[in-house]
Amino acid sequence: MNVLVLNCGSSSLKYQLIDMNTQEVLCSGLVERIGDPMGKIAHKSFPGSDKQKAVSSEEAFPDHGAALKAANVLISSNPETKVVSAVSDIAAIGHRVLHAGTVYREPVVIDTDVKATIRKFFILGPLHNPPQLIGIEAAEVLYPGVPQVAVFDTAFHATIPDYAATYAIPYSYYTELGVRRYGFHGTSHWYVAKKTASVIGKPFDKTSCITVHLGNGCSMDAVKNGVCVDTSMGLTPLQGLMMGTRSGDIDASIYAFLAKNKGMSVEEIDNLLNKQSGLKGICGMNDMRDIHAARAKGDKMAQLAVEMFCYRVKQYIGAYLAALDGCDAIAFTAGIGENDTDVRQMVCEGLGSVGVKIDKDRNYGFKRGEVCKISSDDSPVAVYVIPTNEELEIATQTVSVVASK
Ligand code: AMP
Repeated sequence: MNVLVLNCGSSSLKYQLIDMNTQEVLCSGLVERIGDPMGKIAHKSFPGSDKQKAVSSEEAFPDHGAALKAANVLISSNPETKVVSAVSDIAAIGHRVLHAGTVYREPVVIDTDVKATIRKFFILGPLHNPPQLIGIEAAEVLYPGVPQVAVFDTAFHATIPDYAATYAIPYSYYTELGVRRYGFHGTSHWYVAKKTASVIGKPFDKTSCITVHLGNGCSMDAVKNGVCVDTSMGLTPLQGLMMGTRSGDIDASIYAFLAKNKGMSVEEIDNLLNKQSGLKGICGMNDMRDIHAARAKGDKMAQLAVEMFCYRVKQYIGAYLAALDGCDAIAFTAGIGENDTDVRQMVCEGLGSVGVKIDKDRNYGFKRGEVCKISSDDSPVAVYVIPTNEELEIATQTVSVVASK
């Protein structure tokens, strides 16, 4: 059974076709600059395990429908790249959709009600929900009769109890506008939490863990007996950990302070906190690899940025250990979490008194791209590196929904 996974951004389309019998990726691609006078499509096909075909071309993609059409030619009809012989070889389509508030806790087959819900949440996902709805409607035209499933980034977080999700501002802002914590990266956290359960050999509904997603965006989840009970991002992806260019948690009054004392507009402050802050705001760089290289040359601001970044993750681990009241494992994932030995070491060092004992040799000896245990055998809380795979999780959830229909 082949599942096409689609992830529409404001001006991009990422896709992957997965054979769910073998979990092999048959092809993947990225269309960029949709809507611009000139766009780009880069596609890779894997027609056999030892063969790879990569093609790219520049052309205009007026909308997501045109982008999907171009991708579909490479997937199913271009003799150089095709991995299926007809559109009918695609059994289902899984769409990543950012926001459905707390309406859906599970993936759903897309119908008019689901589309109306996606539209209703444009206000909370203004950059993502609109293009994702366009992508869904384009796929309906291109793949008529193929079941389409929405996998929501917020679904895994819909179980967070009210006391953890509600902001201490007048409650009417929640009832009128939906202002509360929703969190993001939900599909990644869900995948990693389930994988953690299988790695430690416990049923998911008996596994409690902390998932630490450290990439360009960073977030953490507390998962108690297979149910998410807290997440570090909030109404928007700005809250929580320090990130590449986002500040994470700050005193909310800084907003008013900057408006009053610097005369900054709402848009300017939003831009400052989302695009000019975080690691970049402290040391001028937002890629951890560059920051480590600068640290190694004695750059004090790069050193400060890493210390701040790791301290914030450590604080959240402490908070989530308290929230969970019993934790089997901590799992690091995404670009930094999977690859950055120094960050993992700095985060976990000094946590022995709360049951987290990292093994330095295991941490530095980890194998890239593989599940690795990096805690000592006597650590009450195990620590793992678990590579994330959001596309596979979307495809898996798509299959389960389609199969249950
Ligand atoms: P992601 O959003 O998961 O793709 O992660 C992207 C980020 O991961 C990049 O901006 C880098 O900061 C970081 N990253 C990727 N590879 C490494 C590495 N080998 N060491 C440290 N950080 C890395």
